[in-house]
Amino acid sequence: MIKIEGLTKSYGKHEVLRGITTTVERGEVVAVIGPSGSGKSTFLRCLNLLEIPSSGRIVFDGIDITARSADLMRIRQRIGMVFQHFHLFPHMKVLDNITFAPMRVKGLSREKAVELAMELLERVGLKDKADVYPSRLSGGQKQRIAIARSLAMQPDAMLFDEPTSALDPEMVKEVLSVIRDLASSGMTMLVVTHEMKFAREAASQIYFMDEGRLVEKARPESFFAKPQSERAARFLERVL
Ligand code: ADP
Ligand code: MG
Repeated sequence: MIKIEGLTKSYGKHEVLRGITTTVERGEVVAVIGPSGSGKSTFLRCLNLLEIPSSGRIVFDGIDITARSADLMRIRQRIGMVFQHFHLFPHMKVLDNITFAPMRVKGLSREKAVELAMELLERVGLKDKADVYPSRLSGGQKQRIAIARSLAMQPDAMLFDEPTSALDPEMVKEVLSVIRDLASSGMTMLVVTHEMKFAREAASQIYFMDEGRLVEKARPESFFAKPQSERAARFLERVL
Protein backbone atom coordinates (compact mmCIF):
# COMPACT_ATOMS: atom_id res chain seq x y z
CA MET A 1 0.00 0.00 0.00
CA ILE A 2 2.90 2.37 0.73
CA LYS A 3 6.09 1.98 -1.25
CA ILE A 4 9.01 4.11 -0.10
CA GLU A 5 12.16 4.33 -2.21
CA GLY A 6 15.35 6.11 -1.21
CA LEU A 7 13.57 8.68 0.94
CA THR A 8 15.86 11.44 2.21
CA LYS A 9 15.21 14.64 4.08
CA SER A 10 17.72 17.33 4.95
CA TYR A 11 17.43 20.57 6.83
CA GLY A 12 20.23 22.64 5.39
CA LYS A 13 23.32 20.47 5.75
CA HIS A 14 21.74 18.24 8.35
CA GLU A 15 20.70 14.97 6.74
CA VAL A 16 17.86 13.72 8.92
CA LEU A 17 16.66 10.84 6.72
CA ARG A 18 19.41 9.10 4.80
CA GLY A 19 17.69 6.89 2.28
CA ILE A 20 14.77 4.87 3.56
CA THR A 21 13.44 2.11 1.36
CA THR A 22 10.59 -0.14 2.42
CA THR A 23 7.10 -1.33 1.58
CA VAL A 24 4.14 -1.30 3.95
CA GLU A 25 1.48 -3.80 2.98
CA ARG A 26 -2.23 -3.12 3.37
CA GLY A 27 -3.35 -3.96 6.91
CA GLU A 28 0.16 -3.98 8.28
CA VAL A 29 0.79 -2.44 11.71
CA VAL A 30 4.31 -1.05 11.89
CA ALA A 31 5.85 0.03 15.19
CA VAL A 32 8.62 2.54 14.52
CA ILE A 33 11.15 2.61 17.33
CA GLY A 34 14.59 4.05 17.87
CA PRO A 35 16.51 6.64 19.85
CA SER A 36 15.44 10.24 20.13
CA GLY A 37 16.59 12.26 17.12
CA SER A 38 16.84 9.23 14.82
CA GLY A 39 14.30 10.69 12.39
CA LYS A 40 11.12 8.83 13.35
CA SER A 41 8.87 11.90 13.38
CA THR A 42 10.40 13.24 10.19
CA PHE A 43 9.80 9.88 8.51
CA LEU A 44 6.11 9.91 9.47
CA ARG A 45 5.70 13.56 8.53
CA CYS A 46 7.13 12.84 5.09
CA LEU A 47 4.58 10.09 4.56
CA ASN A 48 1.68 12.50 4.61
CA LEU A 49 3.70 15.37 3.21
CA LEU A 50 3.75 17.54 6.31
CA GLU A 51 7.43 17.61 5.33
CA ILE A 52 8.46 17.58 1.71
CA PRO A 53 11.11 14.91 1.11
CA SER A 54 14.46 16.09 -0.26
CA SER A 55 14.67 13.10 -2.57
CA GLY A 56 13.19 9.67 -3.12
CA ARG A 57 9.73 8.47 -3.91
CA ILE A 58 6.64 7.57 -1.92
CA VAL A 59 3.95 5.68 -3.77
CA PHE A 60 0.68 5.43 -1.87
CA ASP A 61 -1.91 3.04 -3.24
CA GLY A 62 -0.43 3.36 -6.72
CA ILE A 63 -0.15 7.17 -6.64
CA ASP A 64 3.27 8.84 -6.58
CA ILE A 65 2.61 11.36 -3.81
CA THR A 66 6.06 12.89 -4.21
CA ALA A 67 5.31 13.86 -7.82
CA ARG A 68 4.98 17.58 -8.47
CA SER A 69 1.41 17.09 -9.54
CA ALA A 70 0.41 15.41 -6.26
CA ASP A 71 -2.74 16.69 -4.63
CA LEU A 72 -1.64 17.44 -1.04
CA MET A 73 -5.12 17.93 0.35
CA ARG A 74 -6.36 14.66 -1.09
CA ILE A 75 -3.32 12.76 0.19
CA ARG A 76 -3.62 14.15 3.71
CA GLN A 77 -7.27 13.10 3.71
CA ARG A 78 -6.30 9.55 2.90
CA ILE A 79 -3.50 9.32 5.48
CA GLY A 80 -4.61 10.38 8.95
CA MET A 81 -2.16 11.54 11.57
CA VAL A 82 -2.33 11.68 15.36
CA PHE A 83 0.28 13.59 17.35
CA GLN A 84 1.73 13.46 20.82
CA HIS A 85 -0.07 16.69 21.76
CA PHE A 86 -3.61 16.13 20.55
CA HIS A 87 -4.13 19.51 18.79
CA LEU A 88 -7.89 19.56 19.34
CA PHE A 89 -9.66 22.80 18.46
CA PRO A 90 -10.09 24.31 21.95
CA HIS A 91 -12.99 26.59 21.03
CA MET A 92 -15.12 23.75 19.61
CA LYS A 93 -17.11 21.11 21.43
CA VAL A 94 -15.99 17.52 20.96
CA LEU A 95 -18.68 16.80 18.38
CA ASP A 96 -17.72 19.84 16.30
CA ASN A 97 -14.05 18.91 16.51
CA ILE A 98 -14.97 15.65 14.80
CA THR A 99 -17.53 16.91 12.27
CA PHE A 100 -15.59 20.01 11.17
CA ALA A 101 -13.28 18.51 8.54
CA PRO A 102 -15.72 15.97 7.10
CA MET A 103 -18.20 18.82 6.50
CA ARG A 104 -15.71 21.45 5.37
CA VAL A 105 -13.28 19.33 3.40
CA LYS A 106 -15.35 16.37 2.27
CA GLY A 107 -18.67 18.17 1.95
CA LEU A 108 -20.63 15.79 4.17
CA SER A 109 -24.03 17.03 5.32
CA ARG A 110 -24.24 17.97 8.99
CA GLU A 111 -26.59 15.07 9.58
CA LYS A 112 -24.22 12.52 8.03
CA ALA A 113 -21.19 14.00 9.77
CA VAL A 114 -22.90 13.87 13.16
CA GLU A 115 -24.00 10.30 12.59
CA LEU A 116 -20.45 9.28 11.74
CA ALA A 117 -19.03 11.25 14.68
CA MET A 118 -21.38 9.54 17.12
CA GLU A 119 -20.35 6.13 15.78
CA LEU A 120 -16.71 7.03 16.25
CA LEU A 121 -17.30 8.42 19.75
CA GLU A 122 -18.91 5.12 20.62
CA ARG A 123 -15.91 3.28 19.21
CA VAL A 124 -13.47 5.23 21.40
CA GLY A 125 -15.79 4.93 24.41
CA LEU A 126 -16.66 8.63 24.74
CA LYS A 127 -20.20 8.96 23.46
CA ASP A 128 -21.17 10.95 26.55
CA LYS A 129 -18.58 13.66 25.81
CA ALA A 130 -20.02 14.92 22.52
CA ASP A 131 -21.16 18.22 24.02
CA VAL A 132 -18.20 19.17 26.18
CA TYR A 133 -15.22 21.34 25.38
CA PRO A 134 -11.76 19.73 25.18
CA SER A 135 -10.60 21.59 28.30
CA ARG A 136 -12.96 19.40 30.33
CA LEU A 137 -11.30 16.17 29.20
CA SER A 138 -8.37 14.21 30.59
CA GLY A 139 -5.30 13.72 28.40
CA GLY A 140 -6.33 10.18 27.57
CA GLN A 141 -9.81 11.31 26.59
CA LYS A 142 -8.38 14.12 24.44
CA GLN A 143 -6.20 11.66 22.60
CA ARG A 144 -9.13 9.30 22.00
CA ILE A 145 -11.08 12.24 20.57
CA ALA A 146 -8.10 13.16 18.38
CA ILE A 147 -8.13 9.59 17.04
CA ALA A 148 -11.88 9.73 16.40
CA ARG A 149 -11.44 13.07 14.62
CA SER A 150 -8.78 11.63 12.38
CA LEU A 151 -10.89 8.55 11.61
CA ALA A 152 -13.83 10.78 10.67
CA MET A 153 -12.01 11.56 7.43
CA GLN A 154 -12.17 7.83 6.69
CA PRO A 155 -8.48 7.53 5.92
CA ASP A 156 -6.91 4.49 4.27
CA ALA A 157 -3.92 4.58 6.61
CA MET A 158 -3.11 6.12 9.97
CA LEU A 159 0.13 7.53 11.36
CA PHE A 160 0.64 7.92 15.11
CA ASP A 161 3.59 9.89 16.44
CA GLU A 162 4.15 8.94 20.08
CA PRO A 163 0.42 9.02 20.83
CA THR A 164 0.89 8.19 24.52
CA SER A 165 4.09 10.07 25.36
CA ALA A 166 2.33 13.13 26.76
CA LEU A 167 -0.04 11.11 28.93
CA ASP A 168 -0.01 10.27 32.61
CA PRO A 169 0.73 6.56 33.04
CA GLU A 170 -2.80 5.63 34.05
CA MET A 171 -4.13 6.97 30.72
CA VAL A 172 -1.75 5.16 28.43
CA LYS A 173 -3.75 1.94 28.48
CA GLU A 174 -7.06 3.41 27.34
CA VAL A 175 -5.39 5.05 24.34
CA LEU A 176 -3.34 1.98 23.41
CA SER A 177 -6.49 -0.11 23.63
CA VAL A 178 -8.21 2.13 21.04
CA ILE A 179 -5.14 1.86 18.78
CA ARG A 180 -5.08 -1.92 19.24
CA ASP A 181 -8.75 -2.17 18.23
CA LEU A 182 -8.00 -0.15 15.16
CA ALA A 183 -5.07 -2.41 14.35
CA SER A 184 -7.21 -5.52 14.60
CA SER A 185 -9.87 -3.91 12.39
CA GLY A 186 -7.33 -4.09 9.55
CA MET A 187 -6.26 -0.44 9.38
CA THR A 188 -2.83 0.07 7.82
CA MET A 189 -0.78 2.01 10.32
CA LEU A 190 2.61 3.21 11.43
CA VAL A 191 3.04 4.00 15.10
CA VAL A 192 6.10 5.70 16.55
CA THR A 193 6.19 4.49 20.11
CA HIS A 194 8.29 3.95 23.21
CA GLU A 195 5.81 1.38 24.50
CA MET A 196 7.74 -1.81 23.84
CA LYS A 197 5.00 -4.06 25.18
CA PHE A 198 2.57 -2.52 22.73
CA ALA A 199 5.08 -2.82 19.88
CA ARG A 200 5.65 -6.47 20.70
CA GLU A 201 1.99 -7.38 20.98
CA ALA A 202 0.20 -5.19 18.47
CA ALA A 203 2.66 -4.66 15.63
CA SER A 204 3.14 -6.95 12.67
CA GLN A 205 6.48 -5.31 11.85
CA ILE A 206 9.09 -3.45 13.84
CA TYR A 207 11.11 -0.72 12.16
CA PHE A 208 14.19 0.20 14.14
CA MET A 209 15.60 3.59 13.11
CA ASP A 210 18.96 5.10 13.99
CA GLU A 211 20.67 8.21 12.59
CA GLY A 212 18.18 8.63 9.76
CA ARG A 213 18.36 5.06 8.57
CA LEU A 214 15.98 2.14 8.77
CA VAL A 215 18.55 -0.10 10.40
CA GLU A 216 16.35 -3.09 11.03
CA LYS A 217 12.98 -4.35 9.90
CA ALA A 218 11.66 -7.52 11.48
CA ARG A 219 8.69 -9.31 12.94
CA PRO A 220 8.32 -8.45 16.64
CA GLU A 221 8.91 -11.97 17.90
CA SER A 222 12.30 -12.18 16.19
CA PHE A 223 13.25 -8.55 16.83
CA PHE A 224 12.65 -8.73 20.55
CA ALA A 225 14.15 -12.20 20.89
CA LYS A 226 17.28 -11.38 18.93
CA PRO A 227 17.82 -8.10 17.11
CA GLN A 228 20.21 -8.42 14.18
CA SER A 229 22.14 -5.21 14.65
CA GLU A 230 24.40 -4.14 17.46
CA ARG A 231 22.64 -0.77 17.59
CA ALA A 232 19.19 -2.28 18.06
CA ALA A 233 20.55 -4.62 20.73
CA ARG A 234 22.01 -1.68 22.63
CA PHE A 235 18.78 0.29 22.29
CA LEU A 236 16.74 -2.61 23.66
CA GLU A 237 19.10 -3.00 26.58
CA ARG A 238 18.42 0.59 27.51
CA VAL A 239 14.65 0.56 27.17
CA LEU A 240 13.61 -2.93 28.32
P1 ADP B 1 12.76 11.56 16.39
O1 ADP B 1 11.29 11.70 16.14
O2 ADP B 1 13.28 10.18 16.10
O3 ADP B 1 13.14 11.99 17.76
P2 ADP B 1 13.01 13.76 14.52
O4 ADP B 1 12.51 13.28 13.21
O5 ADP B 1 12.11 14.62 15.31
O6 ADP B 1 13.54 12.51 15.38
O7 ADP B 1 14.34 14.58 14.31
C1 ADP B 1 15.48 14.06 13.68
C2 ADP B 1 16.52 15.15 13.58
O8 ADP B 1 16.07 16.18 12.73
C3 ADP B 1 16.87 15.81 14.91
O9 ADP B 1 18.25 16.01 14.95
C4 ADP B 1 16.12 17.12 14.83
O10 ADP B 1 16.80 18.10 15.58
C5 ADP B 1 16.13 17.43 13.35
N1 ADP B 1 14.96 18.21 12.91
C6 ADP B 1 13.67 17.81 12.98
N2 ADP B 1 12.84 18.74 12.48
C7 ADP B 1 13.62 19.77 12.09
C8 ADP B 1 13.37 21.06 11.48
N3 ADP B 1 12.12 21.45 11.18
N4 ADP B 1 14.43 21.83 11.22
C9 ADP B 1 15.69 21.43 11.52
N5 ADP B 1 16.00 20.25 12.08
C10 ADP B 1 14.98 19.42 12.36
MG1 MG C 1 9.74 12.31 17.34
